[in-house]
Amino acid sequence: MSSRNLMRVSHLTKYFGDTPVLNDVSLEVAAGEVKGIIGPSGAGKSTLIRCLNGLEPIDSGRIWLEDTELTAARANLDRLRSRIGFVFQDFNLFTHLSVADNIRLGLRRVRRLGRDEADHIVHRELARVGLESKWQQYPAELSGGQQQRVSIARALAMEPELMLFDEPTSALDPESVGGVLRVMRSLVAEGMTMIIVSHEMAFIEAVANDVLFMAEGRVVEEGSAEQIFQHPQQRRTRQFIDGIA
Ligand code: ADP
Ligand code: MG
Repeated sequence: MSSRNLMRVSHLTKYFGDTPVLNDVSLEVAAGEVKGIIGPSGAGKSTLIRCLNGLEPIDSGRIWLEDTELTAARANLDRLRSRIGFVFQDFNLFTHLSVADNIRLGLRRVRRLGRDEADHIVHRELARVGLESKWQQYPAELSGGQQQRVSIARALAMEPELMLFDEPTSALDPESVGGVLRVMRSLVAEGMTMIIVSHEMAFIEAVANDVLFMAEGRVVEEGSAEQIFQHPQQRRTRQFIDGIA
């Protein structure tokens, strides 16, 4: 693995009102790394991952994507976001658009591709998530797992350098989870740089190079998947892993 840092977060702090929801969070993501983020509900995981994509204002700290500072006053957030794919818990597909149009939108408006080139990518990315035949369907006609795979295809179509996942399987029926995890595993195998917030502990343990355990807005412990899941160093981590937190 290259040790080139793709993303760097330094001393990030964020408040909602008087409540600190992120408290001095720092992390680095190397190119090709898969970083897992776990922790109880309310720990600040979603807020953190939204900050990484410039979706939340922060109170202090700095975030870089390679050499470009996302938190700089003059940062071009649209340009930075086009380099980062974001997959949400609830898919965030446009319900009034077909599967193909959901994927086409960013290709046409953001990447400014012509119709043929965009269509080529739509079909390529749908094939990548195993949904080539669904291009004319509407989101409501698909299962939750299929919708999430479309959402992943839409993100991949932008050819991002980094993919962020916020609990991508939490809203799914149990039988849909496997298909989404399979697609994510194939991205891991391709060497995609990924930050994955998930409660699928076995999946995180299997794919993550490095795991952050968060609680109450802080990074309580960071280490290899083996450390965090088999030999946690902090009592708080151990409680969570043992399922009593
Ligand atoms: P997690 O994803 O780990 O469950 P969140 O980042 O969603 O945690 O939330 C962290 C804390 O911030 C929670 O206490 C939550 O209630 C609070 N919070 C999240 N979003 C907002 C908001 N828009 N306004 C006020 N409080 C919020
Ligand atoms: Mg969350």
